[in-house]
Amino acid sequence: MTACAPQAWDQRMTERLEARRAQSVYRQRHTLSSAQGREVIYQGQPYLNFASNDYLGLAADPRLMEAQRLAVKQWGVGAGSAHLVCGHQSPHEALEDALATLTGRPAALLFSTGYMANLGVIQALTQRGDEVIQDRLNHASLLDGAQLSGARLKRYQHQDIASLSQHLSAPCKGLKLVVSDGVFSMDGDCADIPALASQCQAHQALLMIDDAHGLGVLGPRGGGLCQDYGLDTVPILVGTLGKALGTAGAFVAGSHALIDYLTNFARTAIYTTAQPPAVAATTLKAIELVQQEPERRQHLRQLIQYFREGAQALALPLLNSQTPIQPLALSSSAQALDWQAQLAQAGLWVGAIRPPTVPSPRLRITLTAAHQISDIDRLINALAQCLNKQCSNRQSEIEESVITEPQTQATSSC
Ligand SMILES: *Cc1c(COP(=O)(O)O)cnc(C)c1O
Repeated sequence: MTACAPQAWDQRMTERLEARRAQSVYRQRHTLSSAQGREVIYQGQPYLNFASNDYLGLAADPRLMEAQRLAVKQWGVGAGSAHLVCGHQSPHEALEDALATLTGRPAALLFSTGYMANLGVIQALTQRGDEVIQDRLNHASLLDGAQLSGARLKRYQHQDIASLSQHLSAPCKGLKLVVSDGVFSMDGDCADIPALASQCQAHQALLMIDDAHGLGVLGPRGGGLCQDYGLDTVPILVGTLGKALGTAGAFVAGSHALIDYLTNFARTAIYTTAQPPAVAATTLKAIELVQQEPERRQHLRQLIQYFREGAQALALPLLNSQTPIQPLALSSSAQALDWQAQLAQAGLWVGAIRPPTVPSPRLRITLTAAHQISDIDRLINALAQCLNKQCSNRQSEIEESVITEPQTQATSSC
């Protein structure tokens, strides 16, 4: 790096990276040498995977792999251009129709990623003078979308309808867009969509829900959190295809008027190459599986219940989540890394999510339909070991009477 950047830049980058390391929030990637799944291989070792968003275990489903192989034969490997030029092919069109049907909306528009869908929608809809009112814990792409839009970004306390209502009641020159994650990606709790919808209705605001983690998992037909509530009236619904559906890409579903508008104004859909048609064809098949195999969702619900009972029996610091995202609140980033390392020693792969990604450090455990009950037993046992070790460390600290840190939620069971 020293050779290619001027010295002042070099110094800035080095300092910022050093600060990250010092705070135990330095990030790095780990290269897996296996497909995504219940078990993954890292540096030659197998790990039970409790970190992916492949909630239904579809990312390496043999039927989807075969569907993609056949689609590549028919459609090739790339779309060749943007949708509006000549990149919009039959599999894209069929997928948009299927996504509209799955979510119970009149129409849908494909985007290449969820990040781009969120940037594109918020930028297209809002302008200077408007307000984008968001839950504090919304996904980064939603916050970034508001910041790029020129509208004013307001954030309300997590899931706090009174706090939202205050923002909605305040005067504003322009229009108001309210945005929330459906299932919150790092906490696993579900937005109170009926309450959000009635607030929006009362204040003439437009509601946008990003259901990246609910789609495929929740709802009687896998249509997501809105379907779970029996609501198909949320005007703007974003879903991503790289999580429960196992492939890649994203979409916005809503009225024909909304989709027509976004086709004309959403820059992240207009100025980008369409996703490969074979990927769209694979996602179509994934939607079929989601609908034909409700037992995957059922099994996942049982695993969630089983995990929560086991974790509660140990008094682990569980968050209040009924979804496959089951985070454990830890007292520091260093402790999150320590538990992650201990779990890795036991052959379990779990993400340690730390600031600035989230306000407070945690282990983000995710369960998938590919897991078995015995996998959850292994996880619970390994977590019990982490807890024991922490208690015995604390015991020896007490003996040396050097305790200076405050008691935290995570250590309360000692
Ligand atoms: C993952 C995620 C996204 C981004 O979707 P990608 O397709 O991975 O870019 C957007 N919103 C939420 C809530 C997410 O969890």
